[in-house]
Amino acid sequence: MARKNAKPKTKQKKTSAASKSRVAAPSNRGTDPKRVRAILDKLDQAYPAATCELHHDNPFQLLISTILSAQCTDERVNIVTKTLFPKYPTPKDFAYANPSELEQDIRPTGFFRNKTKSIMGASKKILEEFSGKVPQTMDELLTLPGVARKTANVVLGSAFGIASGVVVDTHVQRLSERLDLTKNTDPKKIEQDLMKVIPQDRWILFSHQLIWHGRRVCQARKPRCLECNLERLCYSKDKTV
Ligand code: SF4
Repeated sequence: MARKNAKPKTKQKKTSAASKSRVAAPSNRGTDPKRVRAILDKLDQAYPAATCELHHDNPFQLLISTILSAQCTDERVNIVTKTLFPKYPTPKDFAYANPSELEQDIRPTGFFRNKTKSIMGASKKILEEFSGKVPQTMDELLTLPGVARKTANVVLGSAFGIASGVVVDTHVQRLSERLDLTKNTDPKKIEQDLMKVIPQDRWILFSHQLIWHGRRVCQARKPRCLECNLERLCYSKDKTV
């Protein structure tokens, strides 16, 4: 009789421990400040000098490169801008370019008709309303054709060192989800979530570091988890180890 009773008692205990551990894991465990700090430390170890990989000599060139980088790799943009920038050295050159010729000049970056309209429109507005200089506030940048928050954050952060937000590109979007720093899928909401949990003085570097990690290790189709120094902090369903 005693044996018969012992089994259910043990089983009961195991079930209770499992459910206790499930209850103990809060839904916001991903953004626990200690965990976020640990993620930032690991990113610092792996990418202490992460920067924007779009080649540029001034804020205007970075703006043009960022517009060109939509749906295109930075490598390809850098190849195109190597000859584009010497041909169109100032906002005026882009603003009054021959649209058909500019379309062909940027064609390898894709979506070249829309990008031509954005580049020429933004250049005209910079000339006419901002004295030929790229504006340095989010509100002003968002008035330029073809410029949304992602582009504005790239320009403000990398050209002016102004932390107005977090750049949310495809890599930041994917990694924020895998690292459980957001439950959202809309880039605008992801940015708001990241701005709440990442200290503002880390916004610029954090964006670059996540982009670098996404390109080199935490790739979309097959993340290289064996090489990832965040592996012990990551419980993504996409993990390959
Ligand atoms: S462990 Fe894998 S899925 Fe998680 S961050 Fe690293 S590479 Fe990405």
